[in-house]
Amino acid sequence: MKRIAVLGSTGSIGLSTLDVVRGLPDRLRIVGLGARSDGEKLKGQIAEFQPTRAALADPRACDQLRRDLGSTGTALLPGPEGLIELAKADDVDVVLSAITGYAGLEPGLAALRAGKTLALANKESLVAAGPLMLEAAGRGGATIVPVDSEHSAIFQALASGRREEVRRVVITASGGPFRTTSLKDMEEATPAQALRHPTWSMGPKITIDSATMMNKALEMVEARWLFGLEPDQITVLIHPQSIIHSLVEFRDGSVIAQLGHPDMRVPIQYALTWPDRLESGARSLNLSELRSLTFEAPDPQRFPALELGHRALRAGGTMGAVLNAANEAAVESFLAGSLRFTRIAAVVRETMDAHPVIETPSLEDLRTADAWARAEARRRIASSKGNPIHA
Ligand code: NAD
Ligand code: MG
Repeated sequence: MKRIAVLGSTGSIGLSTLDVVRGLPDRLRIVGLGARSDGEKLKGQIAEFQPTRAALADPRACDQLRRDLGSTGTALLPGPEGLIELAKADDVDVVLSAITGYAGLEPGLAALRAGKTLALANKESLVAAGPLMLEAAGRGGATIVPVDSEHSAIFQALASGRREEVRRVVITASGGPFRTTSLKDMEEATPAQALRHPTWSMGPKITIDSATMMNKALEMVEARWLFGLEPDQITVLIHPQSIIHSLVEFRDGSVIAQLGHPDMRVPIQYALTWPDRLESGARSLNLSELRSLTFEAPDPQRFPALELGHRALRAGGTMGAVLNAANEAAVESFLAGSLRFTRIAAVVRETMDAHPVIETPSLEDLRTADAWARAEARRRIASSKGNPIHA
């Protein structure tokens, strides 16, 4: 029996995780649940799974939940510290981190320092602080198992050889809702259009990241730290059907891929049960029904975010944190209707241009870089206000 804490249990990945746990009651048990502020949803989850503890990062939402729950065997922990406590508690074996954004970093680090297996969906933490997370894992004797579908695919394909035998990895991308949209139309894209993803149903932030392809920029950096790759070993390929989740090319020219229908429950289950593979309800893949799988190279003109990912890979140090924080600020503004779609990557690039990199940053340096990049991006967004999205 593996005892699991789910951070971000009320979101898209969190809900899929609880579905996986429901399907494997003899193998998986929920002992911790945490989220930001959705007390209503968390209340239902507490009633169903009866975890040892639950946390809400928003202390007022936590107070309200305490009043609503009445007497319960679940300890309620308020504030961001509550999520950290959830992550390092003694009765936890696996922490599944499905928090969105930089907010997932400190709970993730706490899990690693405490020697837990970290099933990681929260890619932003690795992008911002890869080397620190690896160091924490090394010291704590902890393991990071990827949940992100592409990285789960790479993780599985890597089992076919040794690390020094890898020539390169190919991260696949659906291309998002604007794969074939002209740059001119992308300039006018509304949040509603950008939120309509063709193959995956996900939370709002990552859905916008998929539309700009910043998601692939983040995933390149994520792959670098997870698998110890050099920047020039990581490439991106558009594959609109989202059936091949990524590929690894070995030095003899053999390419190993992982395939399946796009359903996050598959990589989530693998991360939770690894190194075992258990039965799942996933549909079998019928390739004759699908008939064709297609591929194309991404267009750097329409998707400039990809180049920013390469740049963050090469620069290292604090640049990953800056890429991530500027993007979080820009996506928030786009969703709020105060930034043009095509300005998202531009704001990130301008923020990166203005950043003097610290090569081997401490956690404190990363906190400073994160706060600086958010403020710098917001300043740039405010100064382009004369350029409203529906001009
Ligand atoms: P979501 O918006 O649906 O859910 C986010 C969850 O995190 C919610 O439970 C929310 O309460 C919690 N949260 C947000 N901010 C928080 C904070 N400051 N403190 C504590 N909790 C906080 O997002 P999602 O789509 O489930 O994505 C979660 C993570 O997984 C992201 O890092 C995303 O990139 C990654 N991911 C998601 C998918 C997917 O299919 N949805 C696929 C691959 C990777
Ligand atoms: Mg992914």
